[in-house]
Amino acid sequence: METELHFPIEPKPELENKLVKAVRYVYEFINSKDFVKTMCKHEFQGSECFADTADNNVRVASKVVDATRTHFNISFFTSRKRILGYAHGDELFFNETIVGDPDYLIGDLAANIAHEIAHKAGYSHCMDNHWTWAYTVPYALGLMVKEKVNKEEGRLNLIEVDSIGLNHMSKLRYYVYRFLYSGN
Ligand SMILES: [Zn+2]
Repeated sequence: METELHFPIEPKPELENKLVKAVRYVYEFINSKDFVKTMCKHEFQGSECFADTADNNVRVASKVVDATRTHFNISFFTSRKRILGYAHGDELFFNETIVGDPDYLIGDLAANIAHEIAHKAGYSHCMDNHWTWAYTVPYALGLMVKEKVNKEEGRLNLIEVDSIGLNHMSKLRYYVYRFLYSGN
């Protein structure tokens, strides 16, 4: 994974480590050998499919993989409101206050990034709190990633995150991470 970073401010190192690790988990999972197999097994109402899409599971998997093959930016904003984040084009925005909370785990962040990647791949979901929610591509993918990360976190915790060189340029409350998948 190639990571290009721009830091108009001094980022909090723990936040940055969390983000880089979460993105790595998501990219590794989506680009792993088992990904298509895992996606193909997804069931909704007794058949192998996802809710809210006419695409079959193979097509869903391939569109999600494609969505990781282009650049996207992740930015943080600060807000005391319980808004976690949102996606706009190739940019994902996350609330620094929530992501920085120790109770908000890497698995949670990875699930949210995967969710937004599913949106980027063209999948949407029904209104919040509907029972079919968890079976839509964005939520189902998020749950798969979360389960995977929670299982592996013990192991990968021991691996150092790449040194990515912090730049302390200004005090703007904004910074951008630019990611591009470039193979393993
Ligand atoms: Zn969504």
